Amino acid sequence: MTSIDNVHPAEINKFGSMAERWWDPQGEFKTLHDINPLRLEFIQRYINLDGQRIVDVGCGGGILTEALAKHGADAMGIDLSEDLIDVADLHGLESGIKVHYRKISAEDLASQQPETFDHVTCMEMLEHVPDPGSIIQACATLVKPGGMVFFSTLNRKPKAYLLAIVAAEHILRMLPKGTHDYKTFIKPSELSKSARHCGLSLQGMVGIEYNPFTKLFSVSKDIDVNYIAAFKRES
Ligand code: SAH
Repeated sequence: MTSIDNVHPAEINKFGSMAERWWDPQGEFKTLHDINPLRLEFIQRYINLDGQRIVDVGCGGGILTEALAKHGADAMGIDLSEDLIDVADLHGLESGIKVHYRKISAEDLASQQPETFDHVTCMEMLEHVPDPGSIIQACATLVKPGGMVFFSTLNRKPKAYLLAIVAAEHILRMLPKGTHDYKTFIKPSELSKSARHCGLSLQGMVGIEYNPFTKLFSVSKDIDVNYIAAFKRES
């Protein structure tokens, strides 16, 4: 599969069509805003961001990318949605946080700039592409030996179907309907195996859990729904 094939155009259009509301903390992407401090804290358990060159793959409007830069990283964000790259650029101008964004696929950037980045992040993106293995391989190629790669995605478990689709999209309306497709969810064992084949070894994994009563997210040992994992590229 080439980089041109590893994209569902409908997915790019779906996210792009909501681009202008990306940074509304109460809008369709509220969940990404709410979980962002937890993702950042997890990343910082493994790395000191200061001065580190990081690429955020499938960056959307730049919620994590800006947070990485705000904490000292030399961050770059890539996505295939032109609308989202524009939103990310514009938000960077408003916030004054310096991030470089590019519309390019992970695979193409990996062939242009192998072993260039100290670390790589790829959040809530693997479940939106036809071939997640190809993105995992690209991330492993982009990172320097010894660097870290962080992925987050949804687990293919019935509980994730109930909570991330039935509850979050249909009952609680936390996410737009149709955001997720259960078939595309990835088991932690599948992610780890695929990463291992690319020279990435698992360092740690936590779940991100939602409490509908307090309306708060927290880090949890329960990786049945949303989870985030840290991998190290072998030297
Ligand atoms: N990582 C961001 C956005 C997650 S939403 C965050 O967690 O805050 C999923 C993103 O993946 C969208 O921005 C969408 O445009 C992007 N995406 C989907 N398929 C892609 C592909 N093949 N290549 C690059 N980006 C893709």
